[in-house]
Amino acid sequence: MEKISAIIWDLDGTLYPNDSAYYNADFTAMAKIASSMGLMDFDAALSAARKSEEEYGGTYEFLINDYGMTHDEIDAIFKKTIDLSFLAPNEGLIRGLRRCAMPMALYSDSPHYWIDDVLARTGLAEFFAPYMRFTPEDFGLHKKGDGDNDFREIVRRLDMPMSEVAYVENTESKLVIPARLGIVPVLLTGTSAYPVAPSVGYRGMTFDNAEGFLRTLN
Ligand SMILES: [Mg+2]
Repeated sequence: MEKISAIIWDLDGTLYPNDSAYYNADFTAMAKIASSMGLMDFDAALSAARKSEEEYGGTYEFLINDYGMTHDEIDAIFKKTIDLSFLAPNEGLIRGLRRCAMPMALYSDSPHYWIDDVLARTGLAEFFAPYMRFTPEDFGLHKKGDGDNDFREIVRRLDMPMSEVAYVENTESKLVIPARLGIVPVLLTGTSAYPVAPSVGYRGMTFDNAEGFLRTLN
């Protein structure tokens, strides 16, 4: 295995799972949004969100396809609507991160207020100093994959060679640019209630979850 001296972590679906508790909160939030906009009643929206995830791999898709909303529009409302009380500290992950004595950064497409809230609820705030938490707000609102300046800047802050930095993600497409830069791609495949298999072309490491990856470093 490659020598790893620093880690960049994705947050959603990576440092906490997109499990059935997550999806219940997700479906409920989508149903609240669609019903409060008068698009359909709550129960109809709840099943539309569920069907949307099963058929299109995203609870937002029915609002995009049938009501012409954009992903970013929905996401901004969604993040303020979802009830995150299902989140709880994962002691196994916390132990794994404590043992992992290397520089770490967090890079998420979610906004800073969301990152801070999720880290507080999952007991992971101590592992990421505020200046090591990155979002599109730090890169002119460009999302992951809109270029490579974001990853270059984060690696520069970690102060390690690109080839010794791992990037851990639950979404394979977001590993393409960092892998092209020479960052070590690490894909988590067991953290979602609706898992997506890696493509045949994927050449990085795969693990079930973050704890599994951390165990290989010790
Ligand atoms: Mg993710």
